[in-house]
Amino acid sequence: MINMKDNSCRQCGEGLEVNKNCKICSQANQFFCHNCGYVTEEQIHSQCIMISLGHTLLSA
Ligand SMILES: [Zn+2]
Ligand SMILES: [Zn+2]
Repeated sequence: MINMKDNSCRQCGEGLEVNKNCKICSQANQFFCHNCGYVTEEQIHSQCIMISLGHTLLSA
């Protein structure tokens, strides 16, 4: 019940569509509402930041 709330628009309650996926783990991390155009904040995965920083260091 708590998690289900993340999947509906805070403004109008419509279901959200995926707007962006995490580049590292490819899970959806940002959503938008077709009905009113509301866009959620991008979720930051701390694990993925660590991985992405590691990649940056390796490729540098
Ligand atoms: Zn991620
Ligand atoms: Zn909405």
